[in-house]
Amino acid sequence: MAGLRAAVELARHGEVLVVTKESVAESNTHYAQGGIAVAMEGDEDIALHLEDTVNAGDGLVMRAAAQALVAEGPVRVAELIEWGTNFDAEAGELLRTREGAHSLPRILHANGDATGAEISRSLAAFARVHKRIRFAEWTTITGLVVADGRVIGADLLGREGGLERVNASGVLIAAGGAGQVYSDTTNPAVATGDGIALAVGAGGELADMEFYQFHPTALSLAGAPRFLLSEALRGEGAILRNERGERFMERYHPLLELAPRDVVARAIFREGMGAEQGAEPGASRLVHLDMRHIHGVDLHKRFPGISATLGRYGLDLSRDLLPVRPAAHYLMGGIKTDLHGRTSMPGLYAAGEAACTGVHGANRLASNSLLEGLVFGARAAQAMLDDGFSLLATDALESIPAPLTADEEARAEKIISILQAAMWAYAGLLREESTLRLGLAAQQSSAAAIEELAGRGKSSRRLAEALAMSSVAHAILASALARTESRGAHFRNDFPQHDDTNFLKHSVFSRAGQVVFEKW
Ligand SMILES: Cc1cc2nc3c(=O)[nH]c(=O)nc-3n(C[C@H](O)[C@H](O)[C@H](O)COP(=O)(O)OP(=O)(O)OC[C@H]3O[C@@H](n4cnc5c(N)ncnc54)[C@H](O)[C@@H]3O)c2cc1C
Repeated sequence: MAGLRAAVELARHGEVLVVTKESVAESNTHYAQGGIAVAMEGDEDIALHLEDTVNAGDGLVMRAAAQALVAEGPVRVAELIEWGTNFDAEAGELLRTREGAHSLPRILHANGDATGAEISRSLAAFARVHKRIRFAEWTTITGLVVADGRVIGADLLGREGGLERVNASGVLIAAGGAGQVYSDTTNPAVATGDGIALAVGAGGELADMEFYQFHPTALSLAGAPRFLLSEALRGEGAILRNERGERFMERYHPLLELAPRDVVARAIFREGMGAEQGAEPGASRLVHLDMRHIHGVDLHKRFPGISATLGRYGLDLSRDLLPVRPAAHYLMGGIKTDLHGRTSMPGLYAAGEAACTGVHGANRLASNSLLEGLVFGARAAQAMLDDGFSLLATDALESIPAPLTADEEARAEKIISILQAAMWAYAGLLREESTLRLGLAAQQSSAAAIEELAGRGKSSRRLAEALAMSSVAHAILASALARTESRGAHFRNDFPQHDDTNFLKHSVFSRAGQVVFEKW
């Protein structure tokens, strides 16, 4: 979303190269289900969207960023529609649904529960007809080129292992989230936090890395990916039940199943796994989503994608109890930018989930992230143009690194899965100093092992991802350790309350591994 929107803007004035690890279609954007939040009804509607966003962020939303998001959202969404995105409509009127913590129904959706796929299809098709946009698909950016403190290009690893260096006066990182850092995630395989790691590795700063949103209801079946069962199911009346069949949310929040995401996620975690954070998936007590009592809505028609996926696992959403567990979903933090995508390094810009403008604060309002990519993708491109962006040349690098051997690839895979399990166990929904320190120790030993592999002068996408995940894990752990309070998505068992005196601030993580807190 963010990268393509920026490319369209940049292409009005010059040549752009869009690089994606797999096909353009494979991204977090593609998997977005529920929809895109946008206030299309004028100033009052925009003001309410702003308040909902600020309230969800638990004291840390950067108000000016949220104001830009909600005020520019309607124009950007109108452009999307003009460019070919088909949102669901009836009699010429766009359909809107409501999600948790939104005061009004303002979520546009497409094909029921496949909003991201429709946006990514239409935006990619629109971008592909621009002659000035070139695509390098199945290509991994493995490094940024820095000279005199300025980013002047990037190194690209092709599918066949060849390296190229692209020189440019500006590089925009729109590389999405990092859910793959955790063993349980709703994110696809490409979401390994590469962009965030590249930025901090080159000398940029990260912010708010302790704030990872865990989605409460991912499908929990042994051997199956953590497919998302959208919040909209609970919006339609789905109930959560523990293994004894009890509706347990009554014990946790007056809004029951529609309580804020982090409250529901922690409740499911506690009911399902007790305090055993490191419990193996499947080894714990099961929590289910129950829609069997819902009549009068054709659930299969309302949620065609979810219904079809469940069908592949022999489950019917109107007849069966659906096993669920929380999973890492959305990173509120990321590369620290100003309101125009500028990072602390000249020549380096960031937008979308990889960036942190402070727009989400400590917790994201549902369906605000697609809008974020759209609004801040366009803003970052404008800043690049204002700063004199130009794509200069592509050079094949002379040294072609050897690929990893099969044994080395297997070793990289093993190191990654140890790191992912440690992050889930020690830096997941419930954190405390002792577990975070265990997490740091595991991360340090993973880092040493992966750096030893990297030191052999070879190259592969998986190796680059392993390095990235280790670096992102470090930032999450260090930031979570430093924030000795609970706020938004970050919950510390040893500091369960807010501490407004010390922590109404954003954490900033730098390459040296230090965390400082800043008021924005
Ligand atoms: C299952 C699911 C459901 C969601 N539902 C919603 C929803 O209903 N509403 C909502 O607002 N948000 C939703 N979200 C969140 C939202 O989809 C994402 O936050 C948003 O789409 C991120 O967009 P982006 O442009 O920043 O990154 P992405 O869409 O993730 O794109 C990142 C791109 O960067 C590329 N990339 C990454 N690393 C490299 C590298 N090293 N080299 C080259 N390319 C690289 C990837 O290949 C990819 O093409 C959902 C997310 C998930 C996972």
